[in-house]
Amino acid sequence: MSVSAELARPLVDRYGRVHRDLRISLTDKCNLRCTYCMPAEGVPWLSKDNILTTDELERVAQIAAALGIVEVRLTGGEPLLRRDAVDVVRRMARIVAGDGPLEVSMTTNGLRLPALAEELVAAGLTRVNVSLDTLRPDRFLALTRRNRLDDVLDGIRAALAAGLAPVKLNAVAMRDVNDDELVDLLRFAQDHGCEMRFIEQMPLDAGHVWSRVKMVRGEEILDRLGEVFTLTEISGRGAAPAETFLVDGGPTTVGVIRSVSLPFCGACDRVRLTADGQLRNCLFAREESDLLAVLRGGGSDDDVARLLHTCIAGKLPGHGINDPGFLQPDRPMSAIGG
Ligand code: SF4
Repeated sequence: MSVSAELARPLVDRYGRVHRDLRISLTDKCNLRCTYCMPAEGVPWLSKDNILTTDELERVAQIAAALGIVEVRLTGGEPLLRRDAVDVVRRMARIVAGDGPLEVSMTTNGLRLPALAEELVAAGLTRVNVSLDTLRPDRFLALTRRNRLDDVLDGIRAALAAGLAPVKLNAVAMRDVNDDELVDLLRFAQDHGCEMRFIEQMPLDAGHVWSRVKMVRGEEILDRLGEVFTLTEISGRGAAPAETFLVDGGPTTVGVIRSVSLPFCGACDRVRLTADGQLRNCLFAREESDLLAVLRGGGSDDDVARLLHTCIAGKLPGHGINDPGFLQPDRPMSAIGG
């Protein structure tokens, strides 16, 4: 890997945001069918021929590290459905970034963690976010169209036993769906030594049925939790999406991600790579930069670096969800990744 001195510089956009976090979607496929993400029949999958190979993923991560990326989060669809997922982690974790190894984390639905958690840790995975929207089997079935809550709970236990830390639990708060479980979910996290993260529902569903009225705002989540727990805000958030709070004096923390009601785009340090090789400078980007064409067109490392810089240079100040003309991206969440 060799990027010229002229291009081996941080990924800074027009607003001075320095990008250090690369989110890579390993696949758009998933073994759940969450109602807020995709229809029961799924969505047309990305063409297999366009899915980035393990070598291509490693090459892009190496070049990105030369441009100041210090952490990679592997997402999906469901990243652990990729047969080479452990090898991808191993290759990423041996990349030198900044003053140490590239930090590798993952967002997963947890179903394959019982089988893979130990191997993933041995390969270099450090921490994991597991989706957990409910603790009720009937509701899990209704939400994901799969009867697999026990497997997710086993996955969380396997992640903890393998030494992944922190293990964060992500729940999308939905009115009249699971918003009566906010306290139970936080208690579960407390009892298992996990960190709870509540996420405002975002307009990224394949069905384009997101409703601002039905969305549970972060403020309301905090009010409800505050009726039961003592929440103390933790300062020094930096570019992190979540505002975090100590629960009852700690050590458990709870985070709230207010993408819609209190956007944090001003400090965003994230850039995304889709499984089919498209660069997205924002979760809600409506344009993409075709890295696949550069990789498969014989592009040099400098060509890849130049496209990364160009992509970031075109980044908008924010997601625009609260702007009158906001349009949801065409690409569904399952093909963008968390
Ligand atoms: S919405 Fe876009 S700009 Fe805002 S924090 Fe997320 S990725 Fe960054």
